[in-house]
Amino acid sequence: MLALRKTQAAFGLEFQEIPEAPPPGPAEVVVRVEAVGICGSDVHAYGWTEGYGFMVPHLPLTMGHEFAGTISRNGTGSGFAEGDRVAVIPFVFCGHCPACRSGDTRNCLKREGIGLTRDGGFQAEVRVPSRCCVAIPPNLDSELAALAEPLGVGMEAVLTGEVGLGDTVLVLGPGTIGQAIALSARLAGAARVIVAGRADAPRFEVLRALGFSDIVDVAEGSLQEQVLALTGGRAVDVVLEATGVPSTLNEGMAVLKKGGVIVAAGIHAEALTLPLTDFVRMRHQLRATHGAERRTWDRVMAHLSRAPESFRPMVTHRLPLERGLEGFELARQRAAGKVILTP
Ligand SMILES: [Zn+2]
Ligand SMILES: [Zn+2]
Repeated sequence: MLALRKTQAAFGLEFQEIPEAPPPGPAEVVVRVEAVGICGSDVHAYGWTEGYGFMVPHLPLTMGHEFAGTISRNGTGSGFAEGDRVAVIPFVFCGHCPACRSGDTRNCLKREGIGLTRDGGFQAEVRVPSRCCVAIPPNLDSELAALAEPLGVGMEAVLTGEVGLGDTVLVLGPGTIGQAIALSARLAGAARVIVAGRADAPRFEVLRALGFSDIVDVAEGSLQEQVLALTGGRAVDVVLEATGVPSTLNEGMAVLKKGGVIVAAGIHAEALTLPLTDFVRMRHQLRATHGAERRTWDRVMAHLSRAPESFRPMVTHRLPLERGLEGFELARQRAAGKVILTP
């Protein structure tokens, strides 16, 4: 079968013809991939920017960690049946390390990343442990189910930021994770969600289609001035960052209320410079979020199932797997929202 793979520690991805997925072992399934999203992190690994060296010992491998499909082959004791539709949590815990033994599987010391350290969804079929599978509600199609991963990341960020009823929330970054954060903040009861980006018309358009009108373009003026103009001079309750640019955290803190929480969700290749006098006097709470807990996936599925079409605008491009590199270029040039490939 055709697979879009990272083959070397350098720019780019390569199409390779690989053997079909091996038969599933006990508690494993083979998923026929119907939709797989191109993630911002995939684009970083494609461009081979800093921070992805951990992949090198595992190359070559098929990328793709945001996918959904149908179980085509079923191992014994998987808890699923052939034909079941599932989304896949792209992390595999080992079950044996001290963290796993204490029940903290999310912090497994030997965890593998599907599409990062073992084969992922940019191919027709993938073998995965059944414990990574989440059943898809019947009214959800595969492309929306493939959004569960980034939506889970966004929801986890909002849970980490403890966004509450009536809050004013500032989201830094208009990409898919920023959109997912904004959607979750609204679901969490935020009264106002302001989203900031820089000269990013295609993704501002997605945000408007998702119902967000308080959009700040930092190419047109300072973040602080524009945000305070929207709030009538009031600092915001929570800041959530999904840009990967460390200085945006400083800009966010400049409009955050005393004691407010600021959450970093972007992967930052560079260091943050933190003026500690202001930070301490303002009692700002800087937190990090990464991935999503299992129960967050269940919450995301519940929301997706309740109002599927309200999430659809996030997907801006659909391409067959063979045109995957075109999809990567669209994402890299920030000309797209979520690009979905169909193997
Ligand atoms: Zn992702
Ligand atoms: Zn473990």
